[in-house]
Amino acid sequence: MTRVLFPGSFDPPTNGHLNILHRAAKLWDEIDVVVAMNQLKRYTFSAEERRDMMSVLVSDYANIKVTLWDGLIVDYAEMTGAKVIVRGVRALADFSYEFELSMTNKGLKPGIETIFIPTDPQYFVLRSSAIKEIAMLGGDISSMVPPLVAGALRAKLAK
Ligand code: ADP
Repeated sequence: MTRVLFPGSFDPPTNGHLNILHRAAKLWDEIDVVVAMNQLKRYTFSAEERRDMMSVLVSDYANIKVTLWDGLIVDYAEMTGAKVIVRGVRALADFSYEFELSMTNKGLKPGIETIFIPTDPQYFVLRSSAIKEIAMLGGDISSMVPPLVAGALRAKLAK
């Protein structure tokens, strides 16, 4: 059985993340979505909010589970026996960041591989930070995030 990790901030989850998960769920037996709790990052949504949104969004998939983790992803991989980290890539700029990250992870734990999945074209421009900005300025984000996330963003921005 192949189990892979899909780590990220998911602040908030977008249709781009869900597309990667939808495709990954067909490729591997089990996907563990690892929601990062990085002390150095400022998030719009709390760790629990991000985890809970993602859990609802993947509830139809029997082979996807969601976990919160506040350490190094390679340590989580080692602890749980996962050998593969999946990352999505959009533009070339993403690739250079993701490539460096994969080299860092390789240096930390050589036995763990990173596999990149390129975005499907319609999700090319979807980025959590841009979606939050559009929502804040009153733009329509309904094609970018699921209704659950659009509602959560509206509620968060109203505060
Ligand atoms: P991080 O802070 O770890 O980059 P993100 O939530 O921004 O977390 O992204 C998690 C993963 O999903 C990353 O590999 C990112 O490149 C990928 N991703 C984000 N948006 C898209 C998208 N629209 N299409 C494909 N992959 C995406």
